[in-house]
Amino acid sequence: MSPFLCFREVSESSVLLCLKKRFHCNLIYTYIGQILISVNPFKDLRIYSEDVATMYQQGTLSKNAPHIFAIAEMAYTLSQSSGQEQCVLISGHSGSGKTEAAKAIVQYLTTLYQGSDSHRIRQPCSVLPILESFGNARTILNDNSSRFGKLLDIHLRHGIVVGTSISQYLLEKSRVVFQAHGERNYHVFYELLAGLPVEQKEEMYLQEAESYFYLNQGRACEVLGKEDSQDFLVLVQALEGISLSDDQLNSTWAVLAAILQLGNICFTSYEKESFEHAAIASDTEIQIVANLLRVSAELLQSAVTHRVTVTSYDRIFTPLSVEGAIDARDSIAKALYYLLFEWLLLRINEWLAPWESDCAVGIVDIHGFEDLGVNSLEQLCINFANEHLQWFFCQTVIAQEEEEYSQEQLAWIPISKMCSELCLDFLTAKPHGILCILDDQTSLIQATDHTFLQKCHYHHGNSPWYTKPKLPLPEFTVQHYAGPVTYQVHKFLNKNRDQLRPEVLDIFSQSRLKVVSHIFQRAKAAYSQRRELGGRGRGLRPQASTLVSKFQQSLQDLTAKLRGSHAFFIRCITPNPRKLSNVFDVEYVNCQLRHSGILEAIHILKEGFPVHLPFQSFLARYGLLAGSRPSSLQQREGCAAVLAHVLGNPSDLYQIGVTKVFLKEKGRQLLERRWLQR
Ligand code: ATP
Ligand code: MG
Repeated sequence: MSPFLCFREVSESSVLLCLKKRFHCNLIYTYIGQILISVNPFKDLRIYSEDVATMYQQGTLSKNAPHIFAIAEMAYTLSQSSGQEQCVLISGHSGSGKTEAAKAIVQYLTTLYQGSDSHRIRQPCSVLPILESFGNARTILNDNSSRFGKLLDIHLRHGIVVGTSISQYLLEKSRVVFQAHGERNYHVFYELLAGLPVEQKEEMYLQEAESYFYLNQGRACEVLGKEDSQDFLVLVQALEGISLSDDQLNSTWAVLAAILQLGNICFTSYEKESFEHAAIASDTEIQIVANLLRVSAELLQSAVTHRVTVTSYDRIFTPLSVEGAIDARDSIAKALYYLLFEWLLLRINEWLAPWESDCAVGIVDIHGFEDLGVNSLEQLCINFANEHLQWFFCQTVIAQEEEEYSQEQLAWIPISKMCSELCLDFLTAKPHGILCILDDQTSLIQATDHTFLQKCHYHHGNSPWYTKPKLPLPEFTVQHYAGPVTYQVHKFLNKNRDQLRPEVLDIFSQSRLKVVSHIFQRAKAAYSQRRELGGRGRGLRPQASTLVSKFQQSLQDLTAKLRGSHAFFIRCITPNPRKLSNVFDVEYVNCQLRHSGILEAIHILKEGFPVHLPFQSFLARYGLLAGSRPSSLQQREGCAAVLAHVLGNPSDLYQIGVTKVFLKEKGRQLLERRWLQR
């Protein structure tokens, strides 16, 4: 039950067996090669105390005991000895323990490597409650699921933690207006309602969670074991901690309260000139939103029921259908939330900013590969990110392999193009990669989800990475490295457009609440900048940066950063789908191992000579196959004699290096067979 599995020895079944045995002994960490596998115990194992951390720091625990702290310590030590930036990449399915792992690393570094003048160091742990309240939610897989990806950079100077910077990726905006059965909106809404003093609640027109459409679609307003009112106090403390003023705190609550009111606006329809038009059923909610956010109720009402087109002479108001009005209302709610989240992150970063730093340890906690019942553009982006990281992972593993060939002075045979790379091409290649088609279509006024799908079918109908639906359904399937995923194209274009209408930006930029006008003026400035930079072809919208292109950009930045760093990989695994503490479901784990890309990496290595045996080990097992056991002085020649005798000379089943024999799996099997027959 070794805590170390060598990459070249492992097969699917040996990994599973080893992880299972260790899990049942409460040993949740195992290394495969240099990768740390972590199986979520779903119980407190008391292995994250300061005492344990100190043992890892002082090296008093055996180096062989795999632990998240061992990775944190290695990353720290390497950052100090090499000066090179270190990155810990944590991946795994929802609920597998990524965020807990990230927290453990942050806790380790900030506890053990804080300076004596620790009052000057602003601790990243103290802002984590803000990120959790605003960025986490209950889902069917995890009661505290992070709905955004993040990169935490812990900055160091002279070996001491001096600050942190945080980047976020792809906050799930749709959750603000929609939750599936059994799920909740972001924690902060429920915490606010449970924790805000009664008078303040009244001032903000707030009621209980069940009365808000945006909060109770999942019919699960409470989470077992979570005290929303307590968490509200923790949140307030954290927000005050980053120096938000009372005014800013109240504005934050006002934005959240306004979002809830927006969700309760209902629309009726009336017919005019044989078109269906939307009208609001009662103006109470609009009035409250306008009061809370100090904007004009009339303009707001017009913005959720009409679309404005600006011509050189005039502004034309076109009434919206009920569906269009609901979309307009929801997009305002999503924008309010997203811009508030962005602003808070900005404030957090200002507060945590290092005054100077000489190196950093990065921690990446990003959404794992997803295949839900219904997959939309968000899942395509998440899975695209995973393709990217998988590609990086394979490249790193291969680079390490190449390094070993070079040390053994053997010719490196370039491994054929990797699967992930091919799938990435298929998604991003110009001009017909799926994401390029999507961006093109998004910029065309006449395009629809249907025309996007037809283009994909046309260009990729015969691609091995793409499958058309058998029935004429609005979907397509992508063959990802982790398996096929079917995407429903409904609202793809709309989601990708990801922009607020200019009239909405105007209304909120003029708000008399400072925070609101500030966040919308920033959004407006970013929008104008993109407009200026964008294309100006006839019949085209201004080429505003789309959701996909922005996400691609941030992924490229992340990959560039990773390339310049030394990377550690942590793969988190959920032992069973029911979050039980002592159950190891072999099938369930196997599926995640496949998704983790480890099995693919093993497969890739098998293209080269995956079995590397030091001469001594080789001779100890197979030495007698050539007749007499060679003397220890002629190990290389001894190996060559055995290999020539059993596998022939020359043969493409082996290579002999300076200290090791490199074998193809088939070569190893032939040697084994001969050894058994001897
Ligand atoms: P998501 O992708 O949904 O954000 P995640 O991978 O970040 O999921 P976590 O939120 O870190 O998952 O973990 C889910 C839950 O599992 C935690 O709330 C905690 O109850 C439990 N858990 C995770 N890691 C550990 C651990 N090392 N020890 C004990 N319990 C753990
Ligand atoms: Mg998480």
